[in-house]
Order: sequence, then C-alpha cells, then structure tokens
Amino acid sequence: MIKEKRLLDEFLRLVQIRCSTRQERKVADLLTKQLTELGCTVQEDNAAKKLNSDTGNLIADLKGSIKAPVLMLTAHMDCVEPCENIHPQIVDGIIRSDGSTILGADDKAGVASILEVLRVLKEDNIPHGDLQIVFTVAEEGGVNGSKNLDKTLLKADLGYTLDTHGAPGKIVIKAPGQNKIFVKVKGTAAHAGIAPEKGNNAIMAVAKMLTKMPQGRIDEETTCNVGRIKGGQATNIVAETVEVDCEARSRDKVKLDELTKNICDIFERGGRETRTQVDVEVRKAYDPYEISPNSPVVQIAAQAAQKINLPVLLEESGGGSDANFFNSYGILCAVLGIGTTNGHTTAEFIKEKDLYDTARLTLQIVKDVADMGIK
Ligand SMILES: [Zn+2]
Repeated sequence: MIKEKRLLDEFLRLVQIRCSTRQERKVADLLTKQLTELGCTVQEDNAAKKLNSDTGNLIADLKGSIKAPVLMLTAHMDCVEPCENIHPQIVDGIIRSDGSTILGADDKAGVASILEVLRVLKEDNIPHGDLQIVFTVAEEGGVNGSKNLDKTLLKADLGYTLDTHGAPGKIVIKAPGQNKIFVKVKGTAAHAGIAPEKGNNAIMAVAKMLTKMPQGRIDEETTCNVGRIKGGQATNIVAETVEVDCEARSRDKVKLDELTKNICDIFERGGRETRTQVDVEVRKAYDPYEISPNSPVVQIAAQAAQKINLPVLLEESGGGSDANFFNSYGILCAVLGIGTTNGHTTAEFIKEKDLYDTARLTLQIVKDVADMGIK
C-alpha cells in the first residue's frame, strides 16, 4: 500500500536539493543510491558529455518476478529557475514554495511517486514484470536529455511519463512537434551622426520583417512565438546586426513544416527587400506524436484510473515532453497528469492528494501490466 507520509517526505526532500537543468548531479547520485537499494541495476548514459553538463540520464532496470510486457516509467530530474533554497510549505493539503522560488513538483512529484511505487512493490511482494525506470536530465528548455538518451539501453514495450499538469487520470494522447528558428540579420554599420546614409540599420530591417510574422495561436493545434531579440551596439552606431529567435509548434507535422517554412520565407524575403544579409537556421526540437485512444498504453492507464476512482481525461497537449522522444524511439509512451499547477512560476503548487493519487495510479498500472502477462 502507498504510504503517504513516506511519499510526502521523499517529495519534500527531493525538491529541496538544487537541481537546475544541466546541474542534476546531487539528485542523480541520491536517486542512483535509492534505486540500487530497491534492487535496480542503474546505468547512467553519456548524455552529460553530449550536453556539456555534469549528469547523464539514469536508466534503471528492475527484474520482474513474472513474465509480462516491459513497462517503462519516466520523470525528469531537472527543474526551472529560481530553484535555489526551495522552502516547501503545506497549508490545507496544498504544497507550495515560500513564494521566492518555484516548488519543483515539476517533476519531483513524478520522481517521488515512482520511488514510492518501487518501495511498495518490494515491501508488499507484489508480482510484476520487468520494469525500466528512466530519470532524465535537461528536460526543461528543449527536452534535451531524452533527445540525447542512449536508446540502446531502452527495452520497454510501453511507457508512461509522469510529467504534466492536470489531476491524475489525465492522459495526453497527442503532443506538438516544435522547430526553433534562429535568424541573424546583418546590415551595415556607420557613424549615426556623421554618416548615417552610409549605414543600413539591421534593427529597422528586422522591425519591418516582424510586422509580417504570424504570432501566437495560429489554430487549435498550432502556435508560434518570437521569443528573443538582441542587436545593435550604441545610439551613435547604425545597428549592424540583430539576432531573432522564434519557435513554431503544431500537433500536425504538415502544419508545423508549413509554418516553419513561412517564417523562414518572411525573413529571407525581408532580407532582399531591406538589402540586409539574412541567415536563417532551423533546428528541430522534437517531432509531434499521436497515440490512438484505443491503444493498450491509453487503455491500461484509463482502466487503472477507473479502478481507483479517478476521472479519466484524454487530452491533446500544447507542450512537448520526454514522451515525444520515447515515442520517436519506438516505445509507445503516454504522459500522465500528476497535478502540478502553475508550473514554471513561483506560484507553483501541488495538492497532497494529487501526489498520493499519482503514486496509486502508477502502482495500479504496474499491477495491470503484470496481469497482462499472467493471462
Ligand atoms: Zn516537467
């Protein structure tokens, strides 16, 4: 049986360890120790080297007592800033930070729930098939941990990523792909007072281009954003260079490609019109995915939720996650709601109940997958 106090204590302990993106070492070491004590064989892949960080992804194998489909459970270790000195507080069953930092329930609620499930499996001697626990690094800011994960270590038949807002029982069946578009515009520098006519102002050129840019919500499954702009040097210099970073997302691959091309065209055409030199680079962040509501990975989670009286909600998401990559690696993987609210802000919180229900639901999923093997 899930022990709420133990799960809560683990959660509170984990969130208080600083674990920003690409600096996951402390948490990874603690998790490696705990997973090993719980009987897992833990491997750390070489993502640290690829990411120029201090920690790789953890892939832990727990041998099953029965033959059943291999089930993967995943969560990410890193969190967004500010995450130094997180002081969680609990009032009326709601866990928050003291308001000066994020809480870090995204995604320590997922991590702690998975650990609790492993503890219960062991102490209650619950039969289960082989399990693969994957704790990723660098999910925040571009899903780079799972993107650089050593796929050869994965052997699961299906998986769940415990990492989205919405109460336990929510199952994400569709998520967007994302392209990042990096633009460099180069005009001509000149003294702004003595010889402005010799210059060609890159800031003014970019301003013209941006008036043509699509912005915000394009349709119900497509969005785009100009997220960063940087350029110029001083008031007395005609601005020579400007950098513009944009993103495009869509749950439809064709729309994503069209929107990306449209953005590239706007800048390239704008370069010709303003006689500036424009350099556009598209970097794919991740591909979209879609899981049929009838697929086993959705059905198992939905039935498990019903068994423990959680309302089931199938949802299409606006954000990418580690599941985008697990699906692209051929493991059917759904994202589960774990109750995190106001993520990526200092107002982040989670209800205690949602934390416990996440562990209960995950335990029920493990049991139900084990049952598939027995039949
Ligand atoms: Zn997350």
